Amino acid sequence: MIDERIVPAFWLSEFLQSDTASRLRLDNTPLPSELANIRNLLAPGMQSVRDCLGQPVFVSSGYRSPEVNRAVGGAVNSQHTQGQAADFKCPAFGMPSTIVQYLMRHSTQVRYDQLICEGTWVHISFAARPRGEVLTAHFGAGGTTYTPRLV
Ligand SMILES: [Zn+2]
Repeated sequence: MIDERIVPAFWLSEFLQSDTASRLRLDNTPLPSELANIRNLLAPGMQSVRDCLGQPVFVSSGYRSPEVNRAVGGAVNSQHTQGQAADFKCPAFGMPSTIVQYLMRHSTQVRYDQLICEGTWVHISFAARPRGEVLTAHFGAGGTTYTPRLV
């Protein structure tokens, strides 16, 4: 797949690269419908995050093929597998909880579907009809659980 700048702040490859896929040599090529979601929902959404935060944003996980999603232990119906979600950091702006708080206050500018404070990164998804849902992840011995709102 040929790389290209799909929105001013992001290249297509930033949403496709996966350390896990490279390490385990798993295919992480999106289907046409998933690529359309990356182009039409995820990339413009992440551009709005970049514009809102005003600092460089680093995507650690964007699209995940079913194999890659399984390898990283992602939820079966994860929006990452639809090309609608990204995990990111923005160290120049602040901690993940600070970012989530700021994006909640700017939800008219960044129209997220789901926004999750994951501890060391932020998970965000975009959809045609965004729910504007905010969750906080808790990592425990029994697995990851989520509570509504930012805690
Ligand atoms: Zn995620």
